[in-house]
Amino acid sequence: MKANVVVIGAGVQGCAVAWRLARAGRSVVVLERSIPGAEASSAAGGILSPGVEALEPGPFYALGRASLARYPSFIEALERESGLAVGHRGGGTLEVAFDDDHARLLAGRAVKLQSAGLPVTVLDDAEVRKLEPGLSPEARGALWFEDEGSLDPRALGRALAKAAQRAGASFITGRVLAIRHAGGHAVGVAHERGPIDADAVVLAAGAWSLQVAGHGLPDGAVRPVRGQIAVVETRPPLLSRVVFSGHGYAVPRADGRILLGSTMEEVGFEKAVTAGGLRHVLEVGIGLAPAIAMAPVVETWSNFRPASPDGEPILGPGATPGLFYATGHTRNGILLCPITADAVAACVLGQPPPVELAPFSARRFAASGPLA
Ligand SMILES: Cc1cc2nc3c(=O)[nH]c(=O)nc-3n(C[C@H](O)[C@H](O)[C@H](O)COP(=O)(O)OP(=O)(O)OC[C@H]3O[C@@H](n4cnc5c(N)ncnc54)[C@H](O)[C@@H]3O)c2cc1C
Repeated sequence: MKANVVVIGAGVQGCAVAWRLARAGRSVVVLERSIPGAEASSAAGGILSPGVEALEPGPFYALGRASLARYPSFIEALERESGLAVGHRGGGTLEVAFDDDHARLLAGRAVKLQSAGLPVTVLDDAEVRKLEPGLSPEARGALWFEDEGSLDPRALGRALAKAAQRAGASFITGRVLAIRHAGGHAVGVAHERGPIDADAVVLAAGAWSLQVAGHGLPDGAVRPVRGQIAVVETRPPLLSRVVFSGHGYAVPRADGRILLGSTMEEVGFEKAVTAGGLRHVLEVGIGLAPAIAMAPVVETWSNFRPASPDGEPILGPGATPGLFYATGHTRNGILLCPITADAVAACVLGQPPPVELAPFSARRFAASGPLA
């Protein structure tokens, strides 16, 4: 079998890159050992927040802003081409302080972001509760990132897989064993159903990226970091936008469900919802909005962030011609999906990427020496 491009992994990154490349007329085969979107991409809260994730202006913050700016047209095209809605909600995100030290810290961050011309508003406690009356009376003010929001990552994964397929990408179920190399180039993959030749290989296998032989990344470039989530149901809906405390977050859906997250656990690939993890996320939720204590818990899950050593993604070409990366997105893979799709597809097509990729190149690890 032969394709222009094989994509390893059908999480949101693999599907979005495949969608872009299939639309550009390339023959694309997406290889997924499970169900498209079944892993980290189904487990995410779906928060789209460069403001909370990047502590100060810099390349990572700019990457998040560039991806957020792409979201309206990305969603419009995705919903049209897939026929599926992705549950996008605006209203901004709120980072809430619960003591005076935290409030001072947030105010300092706001000054840095505002002096770089970036959009954030400082709210006092009365203004916060006017926006979100369900929040705890202990709130001591907040940062409001007005143009941020959230979406439903499971719906996003389904829509991306369908849009990619409708654009002409083929999906094959089964595990990729290795990336094949010849003459110093990536020339395809060894798949459990047989070899597949390709002009380009995109590694988008999430937390499992280093389990694909021939990946070309240093040890430790991607590792699993487990996150747990509990979902409570509130009627009528208690919150209307994403709220963060210093310890976690609550992501309300339009139907009144609220996702409470999350943990950051170094436990390898042990998929489990634990008593300690649940206690943590429920305390976060009840601390943010005390009425959550009365809400039924309707679902729980855990999965693995594809974590890089610096928490930033690995995008574009590495040292081996023909091999491209769309991995290592850590806590921000949903936010960074549109810019990943555009940047990695541009690299595969031999076009200039829409943003400077040097800070996110696999080559940055060579400069920093051995990884932990
Ligand atoms: C609890 C939690 C909360 C999160 N919240 C947010 C959030 O609010 N906002 C945000 O932006 N990000 C969030 N994230 C991060 C986000 O989910 C990830 O960064 C993103 O989903 C990564 O996408 P991916 O496609 O790289 O990985 P995945 O979705 O894990 O996809 C990788 C795919 O590769 C497949 N695969 C692996 N190995 C092979 C192989 N050898 N052969 C074939 N297929 C293979 C897997 O089966 C999988 O489907 C969260 C993550 C977690 C766990």
